[in-house]
Amino acid sequence: MSDIARLAALFADARQPVVFTGAGVSTESGIPDFRSPDGVWARFDPREFTYQNFVGSPEGRRRYWALGRVTYPLIRAAMPGAAHLALAQLHRLGRLDCCITQNIDDLHQRAGLPAEAVIELHGNATRARCLDCGVACTRDELHARLETGVEVPDCAACGGIVKPHTILFGEAMPRDAVAEAERRAGAADLFVVLGSSLVVYPAAYMPIHAKRAGATLAIVNLEPTRADAQADLLIRASAGAVMRAVVDEMRARIPQGG
Ligand SMILES: [Zn+2]
Repeated sequence: MSDIARLAALFADARQPVVFTGAGVSTESGIPDFRSPDGVWARFDPREFTYQNFVGSPEGRRRYWALGRVTYPLIRAAMPGAAHLALAQLHRLGRLDCCITQNIDDLHQRAGLPAEAVIELHGNATRARCLDCGVACTRDELHARLETGVEVPDCAACGGIVKPHTILFGEAMPRDAVAEAERRAGAADLFVVLGSSLVVYPAAYMPIHAKRAGATLAIVNLEPTRADAQADLLIRASAGAVMRAVVDEMRARIPQGG
């Protein structure tokens, strides 16, 4: 049996399949990997863009938004890729419990995966909220204000600090999302890693947690990952190509129509 057929069989037989996605799934959609050797963080010093600098001074926020004004359009222009579309299809087929993601680009939702089936460990770049009065706004609205020359888009309602829904350097992970991800990973009988090298916490820990709780672990990634030795199925290939083939394979198995 080919690796694709094995992965399709695992999805078909699983009671509670959970997928974990990382930067590899986003780069296939044309979103730059900010952590890559030629990425944003090779040109800008991440220490200037910490949560502490952002909330600590207007100058910290001005620098953040100057960078965000350049990077946000790259995220907005990206389209869901083969992996995003495949996961949305698996969910429609009843073959996906949820997707835990390190990505902030909203592409899982834009591909059609319901928001309640996406657990975002690093937040979502398309939303923002006032830290003072809590009023929510879209990043599109903020971006439009930046484009008119506003350097720090404060809250339109109360003048407070508006912070993107993404997790900044030095900021704690969203406790609810991490707890929910741990719960779903622990309940999964199939845990599939797509496009993550599993370097940063809690990504590094999730597959091990799932495996210890009894899940079969499959890893699809172009590079070696920290959990390769634990994997029951290891596919060294692009997440999009693999997942497109998996969905085709599953559709061939499932009787169509009535
Ligand atoms: Zn406010």
